[in-house]
Formats: sequence, C-alpha cells, structure tokens
Amino acid sequence: MKYFLIIGALLLSLTAFDQLQSEELGKWKIKHGAFDQAPQNSLDTLAEQYWDVFYTIFPHEKIDKYIVSLRLITDGVNGDLGGLNQLDASLKRWELDIDTADMNLNSRDSLHINEYLFTLVHEFGHLISLNIEQMKPTNDRYQNDKKGYLTSEGYARKGGYLDAFVKEFWTGKLMEDWTRVDELYNTNEWVDSIYQFYLNYPDNFVTDYAAENPEEDLAESWSFFIFKFKGRVSTETIKDRKMSFFYQYPELVAYRKHIRTNIHIYTHKLFDE
Ligand SMILES: [Zn+2]
Repeated sequence: MKYFLIIGALLLSLTAFDQLQSEELGKWKIKHGAFDQAPQNSLDTLAEQYWDVFYTIFPHEKIDKYIVSLRLITDGVNGDLGGLNQLDASLKRWELDIDTADMNLNSRDSLHINEYLFTLVHEFGHLISLNIEQMKPTNDRYQNDKKGYLTSEGYARKGGYLDAFVKEFWTGKLMEDWTRVDELYNTNEWVDSIYQFYLNYPDNFVTDYAAENPEEDLAESWSFFIFKFKGRVSTETIKDRKMSFFYQYPELVAYRKHIRTNIHIYTHKLFDE
C-alpha cells in the first residue's frame, strides 16, 4: 500500500506508521475507466466528479486496464492525501484513494490545487511503475539479489522502470545506508533514521518523501518530471538526473505531454516552462 503524505518539508513526522485513522466515505467500482453504475445520491455524484478529474488528466491505457475501484476517504486536512492500493497479489487490480479534505474540487486556491494535482500525478507514477507488466509477484520475503530489487509488490522486472531506476540511482553506499534504515523495526527509530538518511544525501532526492524508498523516489521524481522538467536532459545534480531519467522512454514522454495538456483545464499556474 502506498500513500503519498505531505508534499515538501513536513513529511517524515507523519508516516503511514503513525496510523492516522482514515474514515472511508465510500467505494465505487470502475470498469474500463468508467463508473459501473449510475449515481444514486450526492456522494455518488461527488465520487464521479473526482473520477472525472483523474480520468480527464491522465492517459487511459493503464487506468482502463488496472484501476477497478475508487475510494473516497478522509483523515482531515493533510495526513494521507491519497493513495494507490494493490487489491491483490496479481498486481492487475488497483484502487485509487482520494482524501476529500485534501482535494476540494471547489477550491480556487492555486496552492491547494497544485498539491492535489501533484498527489494525483504521484499516484499515477505508482500505477505505471508497479503494475504486473513492471513487477513480478513472488513469495520471497527476503530479497534474492540475483532476482533484482524486491518491493512489497514483488521483484522489479528486468528492463522495467523501477529496475532501471534502482540500478542507476540506488547503488553502493547509498543503498547500503538505506537498507540498514529499512531494516529497523522500531518506528520512531526508523522515522529519525530515514530523515537523517535524506539529510545525508542532499543532492539525491527531489523531496524528503522520496528518500523513503526507491518506489516513492520514482513516483516523486516522476511528478517533478511532469511539473518541473524543462524538456532537456540535465546531469548537474542527481536530482536533475532523476527528473531526466523518464525522458529515455518515448511512451512516458507522450504521457507527460498528455498530462500537461489536460491538467491545464484545472490550472494554468503550475508549470515551470
Ligand atoms: Zn507514493
């Protein structure tokens, strides 16, 4: 289960481990990108409005194939902003979570809109990198290095986005340092240590949340690729290289174009051109 928490600096004080209680407002089946039933009440209508925003902004191929459910949740403002949940081990059925307190569709506040659109882009980054085409389910509980990088979804398939991302950016001492932190059982110790890990590598991560693990790093870097990347490969810092990373994949460059074109319906103020 992946949750995008708070953009920017606030982050690691509020991790999933803090177990913020989210209330589930409702759950709707999605079939081939569309609501499976006609709205019966105002909550159904609201859910459909959220879905319309998501479906308008993002390319449909992976959504139609993999997203089978939309859930509206809330834990109040901040905390979890949204999430993308793997519904079973097949990696073919995914659920999109949206926190209605954090994504107020009536808001005209550009910072607020910026934050929730960033969250949606982040979750879409998980969808394209963690589905069955990209990951190989396994029963292994511990990583077998010969099989590659192991996440809770499975092994990153050779040649997939996450596999390439880890091979390029999560190597050597950085990987050793992170593995040591990742193996900590004590939550408080983990929170302190992962934040220290982030501080120890100031050139590496686009946000502090990105330092949590390679999957989050990819999703955060992907979001920066969508919002901040200026269309030319830069290798000045590792952060720049992470943003440029996605440029090597023509399909992701096409996704970027699609997203940037359609997101303009919701705001004109977000992009670094
Ligand atoms: Zn995430």
